[in-house]
Amino acid sequence: MGETTRAAGDGDRRLGRRALLVGGAAAAVGSAVLARETLSHLWWRLPGVDKPRVAGAVDYRGARWVAASPANYRRADRPDDYPVDRVVVHVTQGGYASAVKAFQDPSHGAAAHYVVREDGRITQLVRELDVAFHAGNRQYNERSVGIEHEGFVADASSFTDAMYAASARLTAAICRRYGMPADREHIIGHVEVPGTDHTDPGRFWDWERYIRLVRAAPARRGPGGERP
Ligand SMILES: [Zn+2]
Repeated sequence: MGETTRAAGDGDRRLGRRALLVGGAAAAVGSAVLARETLSHLWWRLPGVDKPRVAGAVDYRGARWVAASPANYRRADRPDDYPVDRVVVHVTQGGYASAVKAFQDPSHGAAAHYVVREDGRITQLVRELDVAFHAGNRQYNERSVGIEHEGFVADASSFTDAMYAASARLTAAICRRYGMPADREHIIGHVEVPGTDHTDPGRFWDWERYIRLVRAAPARRGPGGERP
C-alpha cells in the first residue's frame, strides 16, 4: 500500500500503473487472507481439516482419559482454526468425582479440558483440539485450555502442594506447546474472563507460587510432553 502512495507522487504514469497493479495484487492477497480467515472458522464445512484422532488419547502424558459429553464442548481443530494463547484456572466448588461426572452429563452444559485432583492426579475430558465450554465466554473458550481444580474457593486447604505441583507441570507443558509465555497475562483465573460472574479460583489460590512453579517445571520429552 505504501508503494502506491510513493508512486503517485513521482508523476511517472508507467511506474504509477505498475504500482497500482502491485497495490491491487496486495489488496487481492489481503482479501484472500481474510477469506481464509473466515473459512477457517467454518471448518465444519471443509473436508479433511480434522486431525486424525486416536480414541482415548490424551494431550498430556500421565493424564487419565474420561470423555466428556459432546454436548459440553465443540469439536474443533485447534490451534489451526483457533490459536490457543490462554490457560484458564478454575476451582470446581465440589469434589473431583462430582466434577468428572458433571462433565460427562450432557445436561451440564460445561466441561473443562482437565480436572486436577487434590492428590495431583490429572484427568483429561476434552481434547485440546476442541473448544470446551468452561469460561462462559465464547472467544475465551475458543482460545484457551481450561483446568479445573478440586476444591472450594473459600477453603484454603483445598489447594494442596501436590495439586499445585501437578497443575503447574500441566500448565507448563501447555505453555510450551503453544508458545505461550508463562505469565499472568496468559495464565488467568476464571474470574478474569470478561463478562463472567464466577469468582474462581478465589483469593486463596496462590498465584505467585503457581507461576513460579510453572516457570520452574522441567521440559518433558516424548508423547504428551513437548512437541519439538
Ligand atoms: Zn470456573
